[in-house]
Amino acid sequence: MTTSAGASMGRHESGNDADVYTGQLMRHGAPKAGFPDRGTEARLAYQLVHDELMLDGVARMNLATFCTTWAEPEVHKLMDESLDKNMIDKDEYPQTAELERRCVRMLADLWHAPDPAGTAGTSTTGSSEAAMLGGLAAKFAWRERRRAEGRPADRPNFVCGPVQVCWEKFARYFDVEIRQVPLSGDTYFLTPDDIERHCDENTVMVVCNFGQTFTGLFEDVKGISDALDRFQERTGHDIRIHVDAANGAFVAPFVNPDLVWDFRLPRVRSINASGHKSGLAPLGAGWAVWRTEEDLPEDLVFRVDYLGGNEATFNLNFSRPGGQVVAQYYGFVRLGREGYRRVHSALYETAQHLAERISAMGPFEVIHGGDPDRGISAVAWRMTGDEPFTPYDLADRLRTRGWLVPAYPLSADRQDEVVQRVLVRHGFSRDMADLLLDDLVRSIEHLRRHPPATSLDQDEAGGFNHGARSAPAPSLGGGGRG
Ligand SMILES: *Cc1c(COP(=O)(O)O)cnc(C)c1O
Repeated sequence: MTTSAGASMGRHESGNDADVYTGQLMRHGAPKAGFPDRGTEARLAYQLVHDELMLDGVARMNLATFCTTWAEPEVHKLMDESLDKNMIDKDEYPQTAELERRCVRMLADLWHAPDPAGTAGTSTTGSSEAAMLGGLAAKFAWRERRRAEGRPADRPNFVCGPVQVCWEKFARYFDVEIRQVPLSGDTYFLTPDDIERHCDENTVMVVCNFGQTFTGLFEDVKGISDALDRFQERTGHDIRIHVDAANGAFVAPFVNPDLVWDFRLPRVRSINASGHKSGLAPLGAGWAVWRTEEDLPEDLVFRVDYLGGNEATFNLNFSRPGGQVVAQYYGFVRLGREGYRRVHSALYETAQHLAERISAMGPFEVIHGGDPDRGISAVAWRMTGDEPFTPYDLADRLRTRGWLVPAYPLSADRQDEVVQRVLVRHGFSRDMADLLLDDLVRSIEHLRRHPPATSLDQDEAGGFNHGARSAPAPSLGGGGRG
């Protein structure tokens, strides 16, 4: 077959094994704006796309992401074999559907649901979708109760600390007021003391972060549940907890099983988790699980019969890939509790090693250093020393070696406090940690020798207030966390 390459140059007699870089596409550039009129050979198109992706850098050196960047070869194989499986076609692909049901039961068991075999749950595309479903269930349940009591149900709210953006989306998309408790002093998250002040009869749920995005820290779900018990005694309002355990749900049950954050607390009615984060599944795997079937309001469930069988669905998506669920099930079978414990324990060790070294470097104060009692296997720190550079400069410098170590303001109301964070994930070994530490030291030395432009220039360029520079970070006083 001849191709539009039509090139006399490089064309080999056998037609299509000419050097890939002599083809039309390679000599004239990639289609970018208009839809291309003609196609090209698969190997040319592949090479072009493959080469463009080099600019993404190495995902495993992206220490900003919580998501899976390494998987066993068997996972790659199963993903390939599942390319054509649509999760919604439960009648056509009954075994993929069965694997999903098994995963839900296993997770309900892992998170101590009273009846793991009988509860409601679903796979999702990630924690965001799962969070929306948990939030909607809380809103609908509250509305039902209010209507039954003959009270207005038009001004729902939910209470939380600093949350991932999915909760701001939930608030806006589904018209529920978000009451994000401002941080005070050296507190980095929602505390039991915040409950009384911010909850009322219109509060549909409190969202607890179990493995917070900004710092990796666990919120005190048990303490917040106790505070809600006291609130109920005083006011009569029974407020459920949804745990956003995007990060923690696959960690604590293995490494710190006595930490109580899950369905052992009767007030916890729903949990979301990202299978594609600490669950070790490839991207596109999330889970929403309810404490009991009754905690998922019927209004959220649709029954469809046009796929053969009569299937209940309560997802935001219709078609979605089934491979992630298949790979998640593989992970559960492959590792079991013991395997997950080993994987995550190794990551905690590496995080602690990083934290010790970073803390010893001088200008940093470690906020969370991979302590399994306090959070996930992440290291988060602030710059407290007086240095001629900002955390943003440091992040830029590390990028020249391929490392992505983000610097960002702590939260909306603490813009002047800049945090840096490293997620220690599956595939990040002690050796890689040591390489990162060497580069950190080199970067700091470089920035001290060659201080970057003033923060004023940076403000103009980036529109950020680079707090640690323009105003030295406030001291945490005696209550500083290590
Ligand atoms: C990542 C994250 C989310 C969003 O999860 P996705 O799986 O990326 O959709 C929600 N909450 C927390 C705490 C997260 O870390």
